[in-house]
Amino acid sequence: MTLFKRITDRLADSGKSLQERLFILITFATTIGVLVSLIGDIIIGEHIVEIILLIGASIIVPLTALFYVRYNIVKIGARIIALGVVFVMLPIVFIFGGGLEAGFTPWVVFVFLYVSLILTGVWRVVMMIIMVIEVFLAFFTEYYYPNIIHFHDKVSNYIDFFISLVVVGFEIYIVVWFQKRLFMEENNRAREETKRADELNRAQNRFFSSMSHEIRTPINSILGLNELILRRDDASEEIIKDAMNISGSGKMLLGLVNDILDFSKIEAGSMEIIPVDYRVEEMLPEIVNMVWLRANEKGLAFDINIDPNIPSVLFGDEFRIKQIIVNLLNNAIKYTQEGSVSLHVESERSDDRHVFLIISVSDTGIGIRQEAMPRLFDAFQRVDEERNRLIEGTGLGLSIVRQLVNLMEGEISVNSVYGQGSTFTVRLRQEISNETPVGNINISAVRGAGSKRKHESMLRRRMPGFLSWMII
Ligand code: ADP
Repeated sequence: MTLFKRITDRLADSGKSLQERLFILITFATTIGVLVSLIGDIIIGEHIVEIILLIGASIIVPLTALFYVRYNIVKIGARIIALGVVFVMLPIVFIFGGGLEAGFTPWVVFVFLYVSLILTGVWRVVMMIIMVIEVFLAFFTEYYYPNIIHFHDKVSNYIDFFISLVVVGFEIYIVVWFQKRLFMEENNRAREETKRADELNRAQNRFFSSMSHEIRTPINSILGLNELILRRDDASEEIIKDAMNISGSGKMLLGLVNDILDFSKIEAGSMEIIPVDYRVEEMLPEIVNMVWLRANEKGLAFDINIDPNIPSVLFGDEFRIKQIIVNLLNNAIKYTQEGSVSLHVESERSDDRHVFLIISVSDTGIGIRQEAMPRLFDAFQRVDEERNRLIEGTGLGLSIVRQLVNLMEGEISVNSVYGQGSTFTVRLRQEISNETPVGNINISAVRGAGSKRKHESMLRRRMPGFLSWMII
């Protein structure tokens, strides 16, 4: 394979790093530039030192580049070439090649380009500073010590300057063109990859959602048949115990499947918010009923604080609001070993026909580390895994909560002190259907535990990570 073909292959190889490809291009372009300048120097009878330098450079630069590319140490190669150019080539071109008025000046521009494109980190900054000092020294020397510079006659100066200017201009053209090509290439590739990832994501979501549907049907049959067993008067203690185990596991499975179904629906953009008129004094006790037993069983206090001024009937997606609050309360209970969880609900006027429903769920639990906050609402992300390894969870709950809040054009925020507890606050704008204030809601009266509750309590004892909102 010819050398030229090898170079073009490397340049076209998108598997190589951007820095490596640019390095090859610039050294290749520099070698050609140096050769052209050498021919020009010979024509104008340039000083022998500069001619030797250019012959040396046209051999050393490509060899160094090839050596370093071959052994995959581009960074070192780029630095060595930069040191050679800055400390050897430029000073010689300046002193023996006619000072500022000849080829030195355009080449300085090219070296600035080389340093900024090929070097990285501290090296780039340091070499830039050295270049500025070098240019200053060149001006200083030419002004105060012109006799150490080998000046050309006017014609040679013009020719040298002209050749250098054209060569450097051409090299800048090639490098900028190549950069632009690489940028477009990267852009197209990124776009293709995003498209492919989106398609894969959609296919996955379709699969999850149809699978979840398929799985739900048999689970519901199992739970239905199991319920028949539980209701039989002649069932023995042992059968009831087994049937309750089936019921607990089945409901947990159903909860997980529902979470996955919700998640894939949201991802596929097919989750719809269905607003209805709902009575606040009915919704809130229902929510509390779904979770308070779990808090009770863990020995946690459950504080409820509901603003009596909330309008009694609001218009919004009651089912999804319940899902959000129950999810937050379940997490509060799940991640709290002692102390309390609390639910605080209040409303704030938005305009004549709307209020902001502000729901805060607080706990005195394990809290969330500050650095984990950015990942908190990401799907399948469980934070502080080491500490939470014994607590069941999929990492889907908060992701669903946030997406539901977003769909309702609301806001969710978290305040947490690691080791002390967390407060999740949701703010949802709801239409007012009936202005009459809800007044004091007597939630404790609804808590009266019937036989169904006892039954659920037993189930929960067996299933600590239970998704309570699925129970009813
Ligand atoms: P999971 O199924 O793991 O509970 P979530 O999406 O509901 O998933 O929550 C994501 C992570 O956020 C949890 O794994 C947990 O580490 C953390 N988290 C959520 N709520 C709380 C809370 N009230 N207190 C402490 N950590 C919490």
